[in-house]
Amino acid sequence: MCLTQVLCTTCGSNQVRPFGYSTHDVPRYYCCNDKCEIKTFMLEYRYKACEPGVKEKIIDMAINGSGIRDTSKVLGISKTTVIKTLKKKKAVW
Ligand SMILES: [Zn+2]
Repeated sequence: MCLTQVLCTTCGSNQVRPFGYSTHDVPRYYCCNDKCEIKTFMLEYRYKACEPGVKEKIIDMAINGSGIRDTSKVLGISKTTVIKTLKKKKAVW
């Protein structure tokens, strides 16, 4: 028997409990830390666009002048996902 300690991917807390399975039978976890921004997470994602930090990379690449097709090829995600993420992002400046 092998036990693995699961830490929250957002806040790093070890106060995590099981939260069922995704539709592809990957275990989901629930972070019990009240200050955590994201409550449920998985350790491995089927789609790269769902991984934490990808949306920030899309915005960084757009600010640095990368196009939609360039961003989707570099990150290995759909062009539609890039467009949707950029449309959702509010202007900060
Ligand atoms: Zn957390």
